[in-house]
Amino acid sequence: VTPPETVLHAFRAAAREVPDRTALTYFDGRLGYAETDALSDAVAAHLAERGLRKGDRLALMLQNTPHHVLALLGAWKAGATVVPVNPMYKEREVAHVLEDAEVAALVCSDRAWEERLRATAAGSTVHTVLTACELDLQTRDDARVLGFERCAPADDAQDLLAVARTGAPAPTGREPAGDDIALISYTSGTSGAPKGAMNTHANLAHNAERQRVGHAIPEGSCVFALAPLFHITGMVVQLCGCIVNRGTLALAYRFEPGVVLDAFLEHRPAYTVGPSTAFMALAAHPGVTREHFASFHHISSGGAPLPPALVEKFRAAFGPYIGNGYGLTECSAPCASVPPGRQAPVDPESGTLAVGVPGPDTVVRILDEAGEPVPFGQQGEIAVRGPQVVPGYWRRPAETAAGMPDGELRTGDIGFMDEDGWLYVVDRKKDMINASGFKVWPREVEDVLYAHPAVREAAVVGVPHEYRGETVKAYVSLRDGADAAPEELSAYCKERLAVYKYPREVEILRELPKTTSGKILRRELRSRQPGGSRHTSEDR
Ligand code: ATP
Repeated sequence: VTPPETVLHAFRAAAREVPDRTALTYFDGRLGYAETDALSDAVAAHLAERGLRKGDRLALMLQNTPHHVLALLGAWKAGATVVPVNPMYKEREVAHVLEDAEVAALVCSDRAWEERLRATAAGSTVHTVLTACELDLQTRDDARVLGFERCAPADDAQDLLAVARTGAPAPTGREPAGDDIALISYTSGTSGAPKGAMNTHANLAHNAERQRVGHAIPEGSCVFALAPLFHITGMVVQLCGCIVNRGTLALAYRFEPGVVLDAFLEHRPAYTVGPSTAFMALAAHPGVTREHFASFHHISSGGAPLPPALVEKFRAAFGPYIGNGYGLTECSAPCASVPPGRQAPVDPESGTLAVGVPGPDTVVRILDEAGEPVPFGQQGEIAVRGPQVVPGYWRRPAETAAGMPDGELRTGDIGFMDEDGWLYVVDRKKDMINASGFKVWPREVEDVLYAHPAVREAAVVGVPHEYRGETVKAYVSLRDGADAAPEELSAYCKERLAVYKYPREVEILRELPKTTSGKILRRELRSRQPGGSRHTSEDR
């Protein structure tokens, strides 16, 4: 794999060499490469004018819209590091990211968010807030977004699209190099507070190029953005992969099966990637036919376990084979995937589908408790070394040393490798809950529960769920004399956490099970669920 130095270099080259090719589509609108280049130049110029310096952090809190791509490219052109923020986040979650990354500028979706964020950002390092009017533009009827007619009037310079229309050239001398940090991607962990993985431009360029070469998608093909761009897979596999392949990225706000299927017919994508639940939802949608998938050259699933039965059913009903893929934020999305033309084997003992084979220049080892490699077929922690592994966590040397000793990422996933080099993920050492590919860390939810005046103890676990894979459940004990209904505690969390994180179910116990030293036994709570036992656990 010979990647470009940065994805931005590849984008600039495409804008020069295929200026008229469509870079982005959004419902009926389209933007060419040269146009996207000019618009993002103007965003970069504006950001520089507003005082954004090279290396400053810019947060993007947007759905899959053209604004997202213009703001991202504009930020990179201005030399900034982008901090993707899930638009589902509530204020307290956003506030942590703004503070931890010392964000200087942010782009959010609409005026209402702008106001709330201005309050959140008050007293912080944020000096520039741009809005993208996204919420006005999420359906075909809102249309013509790329012509910008429906955008809020350009009555102030804070509107992203008004800024983009100024046509100013990007500032010079700020273009990032491979070693510069492209993204700070927040991921949680056992410590509770999310920490920022620093994805360099070289990390992204490697995985983007690997995507292009590895999946052999014809140059210029359309990629459908099924995964959200604020998520590492959406950003790297879809957007960056599409740019290095000089393709067209089809955007459609957010995952809505009917809208997605219409877009498949309209834009004829050759490639897409999403969590297995997205393919289940598409396959179950009324009116879905083989024709919807006829243009696909390759489809990948990643971020969550892929049931082998889904792959078979999908192929029989619609044609394409869904290739599994495995990755983490810390390795800039994939580190193993199924090469085209091959089919991942199923482990006869566990019934698990292989996640793929390690990518080029990537070394995967399976380690025992002492950190020593184990023989083929034996389970242990998956460790990854390669050009996509991040150099560390933003301003967290202790977590960096523990998470990637000597530059080798300890994934916290349990798996094994067979003699043919196929990798299998069978379990997790870490306490993360995987709900449809969205990751929930129990500690973060527990911290919210502990802030409730009636709560004495709280422990959060993943509960098996037919569609989502797992969902969040909380066990709680109450303070003496205090009273709170499970529904109230669930609602309390819902107000403070992104919608996929709050516990759908709360069970109140007199006492939570504990070790002799008084630590809550999450493992025991988990094993109360049918099929809910897990390998190991960090008990609190
Ligand atoms: P990906 O790049 O594969 O989409 P991600 O972007 O979801 O991963 P994170 O949010 O950091 O990255 O989550 C990574 C975790 O997701 C892994 O540590 C693993 O537990 C789980 N995971 C990812 N892919 C798979 C897979 N194919 N099968 C099972 N679990 C997976």
